[in-house]
Amino acid sequence: LIKLEGVTKVFLTDEVETHALSGIHMNIDQGEYVSIAGPSGCGKSTLLSILGLLDTPTDGTYLLNSRPVQGLSLPERARIRNREIGFIFQSFNLIGDLTVYENVELPLTYRGMPAAERKERVLEALEKVGMGHRAKHLPSQLSGGQQQRVAVARALAGHPAVLLADEPTGNLDSKNGEAVMDLLAELHQGGATIVMVTHDSRFARNADRTIHVFDGRVVQEQVETDPTA
Ligand code: ATP
Ligand code: MG
Repeated sequence: LIKLEGVTKVFLTDEVETHALSGIHMNIDQGEYVSIAGPSGCGKSTLLSILGLLDTPTDGTYLLNSRPVQGLSLPERARIRNREIGFIFQSFNLIGDLTVYENVELPLTYRGMPAAERKERVLEALEKVGMGHRAKHLPSQLSGGQQQRVAVARALAGHPAVLLADEPTGNLDSKNGEAVMDLLAELHQGGATIVMVTHDSRFARNADRTIHVFDGRVVQEQVETDPTA
């Protein structure tokens, strides 16, 4: 599903070069749950931004669904992002003056999906994350854990090929963090492909494998053993 070859990212700020990623090779199959670990500043978020077509590599190739995604125009990239990628961020990124329902609906509206189909998708996604009873609430009327579940619903509603999550539990207490991780594990069991950055090795154990990044390079790949097995 995802294939990176020699992906490099160099940021140039005030004539200072930062080598955020140096020659990353990576293959992720459909249905896999991969966690990405490594110290602060090692390039994890940069890697996720490239996977999610929010940023472009300085060098190397990226194949998504067997098609090269470098060299595409901005609108083409936005179209692929909207249809094939679901994002979950540490800070939820919900829109404060839209209801839960409207937040989940928005990316589908951008896509030009007809209203009846949107409604079906929104309700299905909210049910999946256990937030169907909060459709009319505003984000400010929800707990952090509930807001993150809504963000997961928003990511799922588009039926993306892959879910990308950057520290999805970073702003949650341990109880809510575990609930969100349980939800991701459940989605994975239902067939979702997930790539998640996490500092917490407890949660990495839910994944099929962990890719360890250090200084912009993959230093180790570790197959996770099922904690429930
Ligand atoms: P953390 O665990 O703290 O979130 P990270 O592994 O996600 O860290 P990145 O955010 O990917 O790290 O950053 C990797 C390196 O690239 C850092 O040195 C950072 O300062 C640099 N960097 C990231 N984004 C930019 C940018 N837009 N412009 C310049 N440098 C950047
Ligand atoms: Mg980061």
